[in-house]
Amino acid sequence: MNLVLGVLLAGGVAWGAYRMRLLTRDGALGAVVVGASVFGLGGWQPSLLMVVFFFTSSLLPRVLGRSGQSERRNLWQVLANGGMPTLAVWLAFLAPAFAERAWLAYTASLACATGDTWATEIGIRYGRQPRLILTGAPVPPGTSGAVSLAGTLGALLGSGLIGGLGALGTGLSAAQFLWAWGAGLAGVMLDSLLGASVQARFVCQRCQKRTESRVHCGVPAEWHSGWRWLDNNGVNALATLGAALTGFMGRF
Ligand SMILES: [Zn+2]
Repeated sequence: MNLVLGVLLAGGVAWGAYRMRLLTRDGALGAVVVGASVFGLGGWQPSLLMVVFFFTSSLLPRVLGRSGQSERRNLWQVLANGGMPTLAVWLAFLAPAFAERAWLAYTASLACATGDTWATEIGIRYGRQPRLILTGAPVPPGTSGAVSLAGTLGALLGSGLIGGLGALGTGLSAAQFLWAWGAGLAGVMLDSLLGASVQARFVCQRCQKRTESRVHCGVPAEWHSGWRWLDNNGVNALATLGAALTGFMGRF
């Protein structure tokens, strides 16, 4: 019954996000699966965390004046951030003995995804000189693996907000809130480390710019360095997995 209501509610939100040009068509379909799972199996409290993640990270580029830069999220981008929280919800449902740990994993993976997107957007808008986390080399804002003071603050705020909502909504204790927050931040850190080291880089065949996207200027870009299969979505998925596992290990 809740699942039916979940499909309807998530369908409404996804439709609205599609109309607001936040999601592509297949991205909206993915959002329905994610949203229906979270609401259908977890109810409104965990759903609130997902909604806050989705709308703050989708709208931050517009709010901070990067409207020209913000692109619709496709299915892979939705799953890279929303897949791990969705798996955690299913784990809580299918294995009630692990429910408490699963909710910690859920909160931690969403705290990671939120902290990471807030770090990127706030870092791009307010960061002075981002530097690569491993070498300290100065790089353009928005480069994977770059860190700045403003971006770090964004990560603290974004993942702290989700952890706090988790404490209110899913009944985490104060210690669990801190654990989920810390696990989320650990995931953000993992994201930066992978982005600075093994994430694939490509070169556009049309404008010759280096890019993190497989497609640039509408044509497939050529692989340049890093692990060919590990693009930005893969890094996000691994980071949220790391946060989820760290969250899972805490219980108290
Ligand atoms: Zn290009």
